[in-house]
Amino acid sequence: MSGLDNLYREVIMEHYKNPRNKGLIEDSKYKLFRIKNPSCGDDITIQTYAEDGIIKDCRQMGHGCSISMASASILTEIMVGKKVEEAKEIAETYLNMIANKEFNKDIDLEEATVFSGVKDFPARIKCASIAWVAFKDTLE
Ligand code: ZN
Repeated sequence: MSGLDNLYREVIMEHYKNPRNKGLIEDSKYKLFRIKNPSCGDDITIQTYAEDGIIKDCRQMGHGCSISMASASILTEIMVGKKVEEAKEIAETYLNMIANKEFNKDIDLEEATVFSGVKDFPARIKCASIAWVAFKDTLE
């Protein structure tokens, strides 16, 4: 994580220590997707509940490095209340940003912008992406 902006690192550590929306809900209306990242030991499950095209709830569970855990925590905070189509667009934009691909700068990534520096650390890109890939899969 050295090299990441200090403020960004603080936000990541804060979410790592105090994860938001942690713990899964036992309810069949929630869609669930789990992804593991063997190279780092990250194991994340994302759960979403959408109704009438709106994401009503988003939960996360798992263990792993600070980047993977913080990115899951921030994801859940951003997505609750979003339209499903808007949420997919945000996730796509975020994944392009951290992979150092072209991304739509008009999309507001909110607190997830703290991961913009991850593109300079290829080994950590997967850590920062798995929660978001799992999230997209819950919407399919
Ligand atoms: Zn990791």
